Amino acid sequence: MQEVDNSIDVSAFDVVIVGAGIGGGALATSLAKNGVKVLLLEKSLVHKDVVRGEWLAPWGVREAKKLGLMDLYIGAGGHRPQKHVTYNEFMTTSEAQQRTVDFSNLFEAPLCFGHPATCNLLNDAAMQAGVIFLRVVSKLRVRSGYPPTVQFSHDGNDYTAHPRLVVGADGRNGVVAKQIGCQLFHDEEHHLFSGMLVEGAHDWPEELQVIASEGDVNVLAFPQGSGKVRIYLGWPKQDRTRLLGTQGQAKFLESWQLKCIPYADTIVHATPVSRCISYPNFDAWVDSPVREGVVLIGDAAGRNDPIIGQGLSVAHRDVRLVTDALLKNQSWTTSIFEYYVAERAKRMARLRTCARLTTLRDSAFGESGRKLRHEIHRRIADNPELEAPFSAAFVGPHNVPAKAFSPEICEAIVGGPLWSSR
Ligand SMILES: Cc1cc2nc3c(=O)[nH]c(=O)nc-3n(C[C@H](O)[C@H](O)[C@H](O)COP(=O)(O)OP(=O)(O)OC[C@H]3O[C@@H](n4cnc5c(N)ncnc54)[C@H](O)[C@@H]3O)c2cc1C
Repeated sequence: MQEVDNSIDVSAFDVVIVGAGIGGGALATSLAKNGVKVLLLEKSLVHKDVVRGEWLAPWGVREAKKLGLMDLYIGAGGHRPQKHVTYNEFMTTSEAQQRTVDFSNLFEAPLCFGHPATCNLLNDAAMQAGVIFLRVVSKLRVRSGYPPTVQFSHDGNDYTAHPRLVVGADGRNGVVAKQIGCQLFHDEEHHLFSGMLVEGAHDWPEELQVIASEGDVNVLAFPQGSGKVRIYLGWPKQDRTRLLGTQGQAKFLESWQLKCIPYADTIVHATPVSRCISYPNFDAWVDSPVREGVVLIGDAAGRNDPIIGQGLSVAHRDVRLVTDALLKNQSWTTSIFEYYVAERAKRMARLRTCARLTTLRDSAFGESGRKLRHEIHRRIADNPELEAPFSAAFVGPHNVPAKAFSPEICEAIVGGPLWSSR
């Protein structure tokens, strides 16, 4: 029998993208639609639900629109909540509801969609645009340079490619950043955070997303339509084993027995349809996401603390800025990414401040933490100017005045200096 040569010609590509998640899939689609020859490499066989990344902030929706991806997301069933309420034990239900954020007063409503389904959607769109997509890629090795080198194995073949550019879109545990010598920084772990998908929550208002804190839990709910809701739970890091074992899902749901949220019972009695994986919550970043012939995007370039759900919006903006830099320039040297690098550093620093403040407002636990949460809510109620840094999570850090992130404003919110690792 004649042997079949299933190898591919890796010399044919302008760009090799490592990681076919949201960032990698969106960038591959965007570049291929503009005539760039792209090879997209993914290590997994299928995209699994890792209980994260399913709420696209209003400013992220705007980025997705600019990339021409919103029709794709809506066509595949993306759901758009119209209202947001923050509940807590320090105010009555009606006081909380008086502060409802009505997204029709913002430039966009957010979007709730399933993460694995969206990765598949983007992978399909990329292939339709001409991208060659390889799954179950292993032994990945990237070296910076002009040209860069990317080595990998696929389907029994070993490859060495020298494209014009390698993009690291390999997420929070990616290897590209380390392989090209990026320095990694991170905040200290503050608390633990877990997500779970439930269905059968038909009494949860489909137009309403909620954040609430009470006792030693911080919960969040993002409806996806037809009784499905992506729920999250934050709790003290000292209680590491809270969700471990076979009772994890049941304990997650029990944590929703909160007095401060109407409809909480709907979640308590809903049916889990995913695992509940726990993550430590903190911000992490690299010195610079660019080396010769290599650029990092999305979580690989540094990730914001998930407490404010910004990673997808960040990835979409990264994709747009990197696409612009590549399409506007003939010569792909590191200097074409100067704007991306500077803008991203500023964007992530502001989001870091927003996440640190939100952590203290919503997820400071224990007696002293509870007291601090109460004081922060009171200070904000007394001085609405102090809402400004928090609004970055909805309208985008670039749409909030710089002063909102100043040490003075932070101190006025927290009652002392806000911690800083950089
Ligand atoms: C608990 C939690 C909740 C969150 N909730 C939200 C939210 O509601 N909204 C929001 O905006 N953000 C949220 N985030 C953040 C969000 O999930 C990420 O920021 C987002 O998924 C980043 O997208 P990405 O494409 O950079 O990385 P990923 O989505 O992680 O994709 C990376 C891809 O690269 C692949 N890969 C990795 N290594 C290799 C390799 N060596 N070779 C080939 N492929 C590789 C992976 O398999 C994966 O497919 C949350 C995060 C957590 C932890």
